[in-house]
This record gives sequence, C-alpha cells and structure tokens, in this order.
Amino acid sequence: MGGGLRLYNTLTRQLEEFQPLETGKIRFFVCGQTVYDDAHLGHAKAYINFDIVARWLRHLGYTLHYIQNITDIDDKIIIRAKESHKDPTALAREFESRFMEDMEKIGVKKNVDQYPRSHDYIDEIGFQIGLLLKKGYAYLLDGDVYYNVSKFEDYTNLSGMKLEELEKHRIEPKAGKKNPYDFALWKASKEGEPSWKISLDLNGKETILEGRPGWHIEDTAITHAIFGPQYDLHGGAIELIFPHHSNEIAQAEAAFGKKPFVKYWLHAGVLNIKGVKMSKSLRNFIKIRDVLSSYPAETLRLLICSTHYRKEMDYDENLIKNAGRKLSYLYAALGIFYNMREGASNKEGSEQIKKETTLFVDAFTKAMNDDFNTPQALTELTIMINKLREFAETNNEIDAEAKTHALSSILKIADTLGILTNESYKTEISTIAMHLISYRERLRQDKKFGEADTIRERLKNEFKILLEDTEYGTVWYKEQ
Ligand SMILES: [Zn+2]
Repeated sequence: MGGGLRLYNTLTRQLEEFQPLETGKIRFFVCGQTVYDDAHLGHAKAYINFDIVARWLRHLGYTLHYIQNITDIDDKIIIRAKESHKDPTALAREFESRFMEDMEKIGVKKNVDQYPRSHDYIDEIGFQIGLLLKKGYAYLLDGDVYYNVSKFEDYTNLSGMKLEELEKHRIEPKAGKKNPYDFALWKASKEGEPSWKISLDLNGKETILEGRPGWHIEDTAITHAIFGPQYDLHGGAIELIFPHHSNEIAQAEAAFGKKPFVKYWLHAGVLNIKGVKMSKSLRNFIKIRDVLSSYPAETLRLLICSTHYRKEMDYDENLIKNAGRKLSYLYAALGIFYNMREGASNKEGSEQIKKETTLFVDAFTKAMNDDFNTPQALTELTIMINKLREFAETNNEIDAEAKTHALSSILKIADTLGILTNESYKTEISTIAMHLISYRERLRQDKKFGEADTIRERLKNEFKILLEDTEYGTVWYKEQ
C-alpha cells in the first residue's frame, strides 16, 4: 500500500521516499488558526494544500490521523478583545465558529479528525515547561519562562540559518534574556489578561506560576498528548519554519529526547496579491467568505490546485474567473460523455475507453506521488476528459459498463483534489443536441462563425440549451 510516494522534506531539503514510522499509519499535524479574525485566502491556500495531502494519503490506503490546532490563547486575541470590549475567550469562540463554517464550505473540515484548542492543554504545557526547566533547557525570568536556545545544538537544522542570522530577528525583546533569540514558553500574568496556573516541581519544591503559555508550546503540548513524542508529518505555511517550527523541534526534542521529533516537514508557499504576501498585518487580505459569496468553493479549490503547494501563488479576480470557466468546461465535457447512448455495438471503442481510463489513473497517481504535483494531476484530468468528449463526438455508442467505469474512476480520483464533486454533468440532453454542440465547435474551429451562430440559435430555441464559448471549449447549460 501507498508505495511510491515521494515528498519534499524541509528538514533534509530533499525529495524522499515516504515511509511512515508505523506501517500503514500516519500521524499528521498542521498548524491551525489563531482565531481573532476571519480567515483569508492565504489561509485557504495552506488548508486546501494540506487537505489534498490528507485526501491523497487516505486514497493511497493509509490510516491517517489528521489534527489541526486552534490557537485560542494569544496576544492577537487579547488585543482584539480589548479593542472590541469583549471577553477574549468569547471572541475566540466566535471566530472559531466562523472559521469552521469557512472550512466546511471549502471541503477541509470533514477530513480533519480533531481540532484541539490550546485552552484544553494547559496541564500538558505545564508538564513540558517543568521538564525543560529540570533538564536545563529553560530558565525563569520575572515569572516568565524562556527557552535557552544556546543549549539546543540542532536549533538551526530546519531553517538552515546561521545563529548569527537569527540575531537579526529580534523576536520577543526582553531585558535579561540569555540570548536574543530565546523565546517564551510561559508569560507571567498581566492585569486585565486571562491567566492560568501551572504547578512546577523545581528542585523538589512546588512552584506555582500564573500566566499564559507562549505560542510555540501549544503545538508540542497538543501533539505530545495526542501522538506522543514522535510523529510522521507536520505541515504549515512556509513562514512558520522560523521561528515557530524551529522552536517546536527545540521544545519536543529537548523535553522527550526523541529525534527527529517529526520525520517529514511540509511547507506551503504563500499566496500573493499584486506580488505581495496576503496577510492580516499588511491589510491586503480578502476573506474566504467574501470570495465564496461570488464563486463556488470548488472553483477556489481548482484555482489553488493549479499551483504546486510549495510554490507561491498569485491571486486576482481574473484568475478565479478563469478557474470558474475551466471547471464549467470540465463539467460540460463530462456531460457530453455521460449523455452518450449506451449499447453493445462498439466493443472496440469501449475497450479503448477502459484502457485510457487505466492509463489516466496511472498518470494522475504518478503526478500526485511526485510530491503532490496537483498542476500535473489537473493536466492529466483535463486531457482525459477531453478524450472522453472527443470519443462521444466520434462514436455512436459505448458499453454501459465501460462508461460507468470511466466516470466513476475519474470522479473518485478527482475527489482527492476536491473538484468535480457535484452531479451537474448528469444533465440530460438528446443525442441530436449533443451532436449539434460538437458540430458547432468544429464550425468555429474552421472559422465558419455564421453557421455556428445559426446552430447556437437552434440549440436555444429547439432544445433550450445555452452555450458559452471559453478558451477551453464550449460550455453548455440547460435553460432553467
Ligand atoms: Zn503551529
């Protein structure tokens, strides 16, 4: 099962043959949402990228345990709550439920097994902080706890940066830190902020700290509680490599001694708008829900599949419109094949379709097994659907079984991308109308536009079929 999958591992900076730690089983964690505002298209890209990874792993037959955390304790939540005079937890719950609505609509939520909240892992966080203090990897500073990065040799393995370079990232400035890049595991409570208590055993003496966790330790607390000290796959956006994922490795490997903490690290490229990364801080973001008010979620998925997950992707309105036309064309072309008359007279043609279906499934699989190459998989899918349309236009009938087999194979594998998920291709049209659509397309190719227009009129008046010519081919609709 699952043989042949190769993926790019950020940790080793190369394509590797995928081998889970335990045969047939995969534990997969993706950094989830900090719920202080609505999710934007940059988030949609990352979550759809990893949703396709999850779908593909399950398609290969692996038993996948897929979790995505919800960060519901964070500076940004506290700041937003103060601004809007709300309780931070109430604010987090409100945006969490809006986030879940978005994730459901874009076909992501159903494939995630668990969305654990950082709120529910305070004890585990305390346990990890206690271990890191005991082992000398962390130190107390005015009620805060910091991780002493100079104690952890492999700190730059994931990012490939030099320690001197890290000094430039003056993250979490605070007087008294041992190294400029030391990061907070725990922050002492402040007036007007939510706080929790953790109990630590320091040199045999119970010490209570009141405050809240740093961001990075939420993830290792959740994964340690659910997966244990080591697991297979960790995904996230590329900008999380440093410091977030580097800190996760430092925490987990120092606390539990298992190396590598995660076997494969996958990182998704950012989404740009006019060449600049879409982000909350730059205020150039477009909310997922705003896009979904104008375009079907499937169109957004097709657009995102058109770029390899590791690459940067540009977004503009023309690109999503174009994706919409492509999707309509795929449905319309599939519809032509679906409407083909069934019969036993065309043994040779039916055999040919069966063969083409097998070759297509192999080609699609090869593309996806090559580090989830969705643009190539999409090309294979388009080529196959074009073949089916051409077959329907040049053959009178097909074996019912060959037709069903081709359709079900295509739809099953397209579902790993989350596209071609509705049954609109099943719209029935008569054989005459179907042939008129194809004949008109040939006329257009021969630049006989006058005759093509006559047929368009006839399809509209006689068969109630409307046509739209796209760069991919003609899309047809039944008039409502
Ligand atoms: Zn994370």
